[in-house]
Amino acid sequence: MSRANSIQKVKNETFDVCIIGGGITGAGIATAAVQQGYKTVLIDKNDFASGTSSRSSKMIHGGLRYLKMLQFGLVREALLEREHLLKKYPALVKPLPFIMPSYKSKIELAIVSFVIRFYGKLAGKSSLPKSKKLSSDEVTQHLPGFNKNNLKGGVLYWDGWTNDAMLTIQAIKDAKQNGAVTLNYCEAKKFMVEGETVKSLTCSDKISSEELSISAKVFINASGVWTDDVLNKATGETHKVMKPSKGVHVVVSNKKIASGYVAIIESGTTDKRYLYSFPWEHNLTVLGNTDTEYNGSADKLETTEADVKYILNAFNKSFPNANLSKRDIVSVYAGLRPMLDDESNKGTYSRSREYRIWWSKKNLLNIAGGKLTSFLSMGERCMQAAKEQLLTPENANKTFVQTQTAVTVNDILKEDNSLQRKLFDGLNVTAADIVWHTRHLFAEKVEDVLTRRTAVTYALKNFNEAAVRETASIMAKELKKDEPWINAQLQDYFEHWKEYHPEFLNS
Ligand SMILES: Cc1cc2nc3c(=O)[nH]c(=O)nc-3n(C[C@H](O)[C@H](O)[C@H](O)COP(=O)(O)OP(=O)(O)OC[C@H]3O[C@@H](n4cnc5c(N)ncnc54)[C@H](O)[C@@H]3O)c2cc1C
Repeated sequence: MSRANSIQKVKNETFDVCIIGGGITGAGIATAAVQQGYKTVLIDKNDFASGTSSRSSKMIHGGLRYLKMLQFGLVREALLEREHLLKKYPALVKPLPFIMPSYKSKIELAIVSFVIRFYGKLAGKSSLPKSKKLSSDEVTQHLPGFNKNNLKGGVLYWDGWTNDAMLTIQAIKDAKQNGAVTLNYCEAKKFMVEGETVKSLTCSDKISSEELSISAKVFINASGVWTDDVLNKATGETHKVMKPSKGVHVVVSNKKIASGYVAIIESGTTDKRYLYSFPWEHNLTVLGNTDTEYNGSADKLETTEADVKYILNAFNKSFPNANLSKRDIVSVYAGLRPMLDDESNKGTYSRSREYRIWWSKKNLLNIAGGKLTSFLSMGERCMQAAKEQLLTPENANKTFVQTQTAVTVNDILKEDNSLQRKLFDGLNVTAADIVWHTRHLFAEKVEDVLTRRTAVTYALKNFNEAAVRETASIMAKELKKDEPWINAQLQDYFEHWKEYHPEFLNS
């Protein structure tokens, strides 16, 4: 179904479910809704996964540290989901070994090992290998350059790892193949409300500048850190339910810090937080992250020099030979954790990562909080709530049909073999990849392809104007756009690029 067809459907049909927000939470709800046969539309005001869902630590995990906060329910749910995701998305969710080192004493090492074994038990039947204790020599064999001073040993255990943006986009693509109408760059602007019922939602299609009206039986607000903003449009309420925190990551070459194993390190500051180094596309290692209160606009996030210093200082203590400086940074990224305000006055690091589902109008359901890892169960619970309130089972057409078959990059190469040329020096990204993402994975702008679908933005230290222009030209051909569009894309992408390559890195 083309974008034009999707827009036609939005205009002509009444949906069972309209999901506002195409991050991982919206993707999970769409997955559950179409599986149960509900007529579903999902919209996002920007690209799918352009919010928090492309800016995480990309771990599919129960969250060892939440055990310390006694959040057993959250950890258990996420561990069950980890196993589910490893099986459902084997190309996107993979096992990854973690090493938790111990510096204090052999007793502390024994306690850490016990807690990690308990974490393994909470997971129930798991396909991942069991945890094991490591000597200090074994820790440094796995983590070359790791600080060995006073190291008592460590524990090796397994969790999952993913490409967060692509997992979101793939889940939305699957929902589309199963009948959902999906539109990125379609912003929820105004709810038409009669009494306690939302009758329709007026949206703006940012690609055509057209106004659209969506009719649905249930509207679901899955807009992450924008939850208050969307709620305000529906109810006029200004009371805030969200209290986000900012998390920054720094990306370096894996020649600086190797990333076959995730190193868990301590911040070495009074906040006593854990940080991680983990693998990313294009032989990169990601170091992260920060966790600071955030009161600014969710639409304009910045990484500060202080954020970067905090991360580099922590890793320079744990990997002294790496001698990391700003010059080693290939890119940075910042995201906002969609945390609910639990009115506890706890610091951001200790605040709950639980999610909440609640009604604010008769047919406006909200879901916020949670984690990437739990997106499928969050989606199911959300649909459970939607059904209990509004949708009778007879409403649902239980037979859902796979409407399209998967097309691969190889099929595109069969059309035109010249598309196998690589566009960016040293990166395995071809012209065919750009065509494929534009034709089949919803890319509408250059940043959609270069940031969320191919991770080129993270991997280049310097802006490569010629290759970006070529990317825009390839997309223009697919999207039937003209030369001014190509020039505008170059400008837009350069603005976007600056967020990932702030100027202070060059000073
Ligand atoms: C630094 C950091 C590290 C993390 N690490 C992990 C981890 O390792 N593992 C893990 O499980 N979780 C992790 N998380 C948490 C996880 O990333 C989030 O819980 C999850 O991505 C939130 O997804 P979401 O769909 O709720 O929000 P988002 O991804 O932000 O999606 C909301 C969407 O709503 C859209 N929207 C907003 N307003 C409108 C509107 N008016 N109309 C239409 N659309 C609208 C936005 O454009 C956005 O795309 C991390 C989070 C952060 C910040």
